[in-house]
This record gives sequence, structure tokens and C-alpha cells, in this order.
Amino acid sequence: MENLPAIPGPAAGSAAYRDYARQWLRANLPEHMRSDNVNYRTPSLDECRDWEASMYGAGLAGMTWPKVYGGLGLTLREHLVVNKEVGALAMPESVSSIGKELAGPIIQTVGTEDQKHLFLPRILAMRDYWCQGFSEPDAGSDLARLRTKAVQEGDTWRINGQKIWTSGAAKAHYCLLLTRTGTVADKHRGLLMFAVPMNTPGIRVVPIKSIDGKESFAEVFFDNVEVPDSARLGAPDEGWNAAIRVLSIERATNRMYRAWRFDCELRQLIAACKSDPTMVHLLDDGYYQRRIGDVVSEIDALKGLVERTVSQMMVGDKIGARGSLTKLYWSECHQAFAGLALSIVSHVNPRSSALAQRARKAFTTAYLYARAETIYAGTTEVQLDIIAQRILNLPKDL
Ligand SMILES: Cc1cc2nc3c(=O)[nH]c(=O)nc-3n(C[C@H](O)[C@H](O)[C@H](O)COP(=O)(O)OP(=O)(O)OC[C@H]3O[C@@H](n4cnc5c(N)ncnc54)[C@H](O)[C@@H]3O)c2cc1C
Repeated sequence: MENLPAIPGPAAGSAAYRDYARQWLRANLPEHMRSDNVNYRTPSLDECRDWEASMYGAGLAGMTWPKVYGGLGLTLREHLVVNKEVGALAMPESVSSIGKELAGPIIQTVGTEDQKHLFLPRILAMRDYWCQGFSEPDAGSDLARLRTKAVQEGDTWRINGQKIWTSGAAKAHYCLLLTRTGTVADKHRGLLMFAVPMNTPGIRVVPIKSIDGKESFAEVFFDNVEVPDSARLGAPDEGWNAAIRVLSIERATNRMYRAWRFDCELRQLIAACKSDPTMVHLLDDGYYQRRIGDVVSEIDALKGLVERTVSQMMVGDKIGARGSLTKLYWSECHQAFAGLALSIVSHVNPRSSALAQRARKAFTTAYLYARAETIYAGTTEVQLDIIAQRILNLPKDL
């Protein structure tokens, strides 16, 4: 790692933080992890872990977390500043965003002091991966129908049930698990959240292959899994509120770098076009120019939405239903971009430039994964419902 100036303190202001983050990231991101570099190769999980751990060591993770739990005690403004710089570089996606951006914040909200000291520093140091065990075969959009049951037996809880679509379950050390203590008829009442070690006897992870050929999620079975009461996150009736909070964070502030990353992807797509005689003329074609223009304006609008959300949260506003606007916007925006990218890289042929060949591979995979973006963290239809009812106050039955 290169030696660079000390991490700017809270008084230095966000411009100093931006300059520091930009300098550090550009100096230290290994060439082979930059997808726009000729020496790029898909990084292994361990390489991604080490890279993120070094970012944390450099003061570029845990910005808003209290110092006592390993954070920097800064504000969401610095978090956004770093995210913009992260997005602007063609670096790998975070391999621990569930830990850093979902489990960490909810542990800070409902966890005990012991839990905070136990879990939070390890998440930031990239020592533990987390997964999110919310969805079930019969409970996705309607999460309140979940059936995974937790029964208290003295000082322990016995858990039985099944989760599905659990991203990163195979690598996770802990599961942020949502269970119910009563019956399904109780709906939102009697839900309880746990931090369950994934090596607990009775847990079985069965990977699911997705359309892009990866096995990034899984079914997770809980068969008489026993955990101590200290694994409980929050009070027995607090699970629903905690889950809603996790979902609103997931929708509004998780991977805040997205709009800047989409910009970076668009730059890569255009660079690939310019590198290749069969594709360069597409950039003069009015049809593609209009579509590229549409994508650019959507990305700019998304940036504005993210900036506004941060400003509002900085003055103490709750995220609430607003997270649905961001979720809807980024997922639809990226799906439109991925569709455009696919139609452009479909012109790549065996004689095309090496950059164009790489772009075809990368954007075909991106297109396939983008199909899931309007599903995970809540589907587009569900976000539209939330926006209609909770932001626009429209009646339920029109
Ligand atoms: C790539 C990926 C990763 C995921 N990772 C995780 C994870 O780590 N942890 C986790 O817990 N879950 C995860 N999920 C699950 C995800 O949260 C659910 O798939 C999602 O909430 C939708 O639930 P469902 O699949 O059960 O579909 P359903 O809820 O059955 O919905 C089916 C269709 O009906 C529509 N619909 C449902 N209700 C309404 C309504 N009220 N109004 C209008 N339309 C409606 C939906 O929009 C959808 O089109 C992941 C999913 C994907 C694709």
C-alpha cells in the first residue's frame, strides 16, 4: 500500500475527505482488480476481502459508525463522498455489503452493548460475512407470512424452517435471521430477529444457480437449530420494526455508489465502442445517441435523488418510504442501461478489438444479473405500491 497523508478528521470537511479517498483508491486498487484495465482478471473472494479490509484500514469504511465499535464517527456526507469515489473506479462490488450496510446498522439500533462490541469491529475488519435470512418460499413481498419458527426453551431458542434466495449464504459466518414466535395468523406481531452463526448444527445450505451461471444465493434449512438467548437481536416483538428498518436501509442507502458506478460502466461501454471499427459508428447513430442520452439523464436524476436523501437524513429525517423511490429508480435505471449495453455489444464479432470482446462478456453478464435488480430488496411492483400509498397517499382501491 502506498503511503499517503493521514486520514482527514471530522473538522477537515468533505472536500478534504474526497481528495484523500480519490488519491488513496487510485494509488492502491490493484490493476488486476480494475475491470477497465487490460490486466484485469476476476478477483477471488479472498482478494476482494483483503482489498476491502485495506480500505477500512485507510479510513474508507465504517465512516458513520461510532468510534467505540471500530468506526470513524463521521457523517453520512463523508460516507457519500467515499461512495462516489468508489463508484467512479471500476472496482469489484463489495463482498460484504450485507454485513456492513444491513446487519451492522441494525445491530447498532437494536443490539446489546455486548453484541455491538462482538460483531461490529469484525464486520468492518472483513473477518465475518453475513447473510440476510428473510425471504421464504411463501413469504417474499409479503414478508409477514414467514413461517420459520423460533421457540424459547429456557435460555435457548430452537429454530425450525426454511429460507430461500439467501445471498452469500455459502460464505456467510452469520445469518441475520427473521423468525416468528407465534403463528402465521399473528402476521407482523411476534417476529424475532437473530444473529445465527452459520456453523450451528442443523443448518444446511443448498446453493441455487442463477441465470448468469453463478451460485450467489441459496436455500437455507434450519432443522432444530439451537441458539442461546444472546443470539437474539432485539426484543421478541421487535422483529417486524427491525426488519422494516433493514429493508428501508437496503432500499435507500445500501451501495450508495450505484449511480457513480453506472456512470463508470457507461464510460467503459463507450470506450469499447470507440476501440472497435464495427461498433464506433453506433455512436453516430441517432437511435443509440438518444438511448445513451436517456441513460445519462436517468443516472443524473438518480445522483440527485441520492444527494437529496443524504441531505434530508443529515438534518434528521427518517428514510421511511423514501427508500422505495431510490430502489425503484436505481433498479429501473440500471436495467435500462443493461438493455442498451447488450444491444450495443451484440455487434461484437470475432474480429472485434480485445476491449470490445471483454465488454461483450461483462455486459452480457451484467444484463442477466440486472433482471434480478427489480426483484431483490423488494420488487418494482411493491415499490410502486409503497410510493402510491405512503408517499402520494393514494387510496388503496382506485
Ligand atoms: C438476486 C436475488 C437476491 C436475493 N437475496 C436475498 C437475500 O439475501 N435475502 C432474502 O431474504 N431475500 C433475498 N431475495 C429475495 C427477494 O427479496 C424476493 O425475491 C422478493 O422480495 C420477491 O419475493 P418473491 O420472490 O417471493 O416474489 P412474490 O412476492 O411471490 O412476487 C411475485 C410477483 O408478484 C408481484 N407482487 C407481489 N405482491 C404484490 C403486491 N402487493 N402488489 C403488486 N404486485 C405484487 C411481485 O412484484 C412479483 O412480480 C433475493 C432475490 C433475488 C432475485
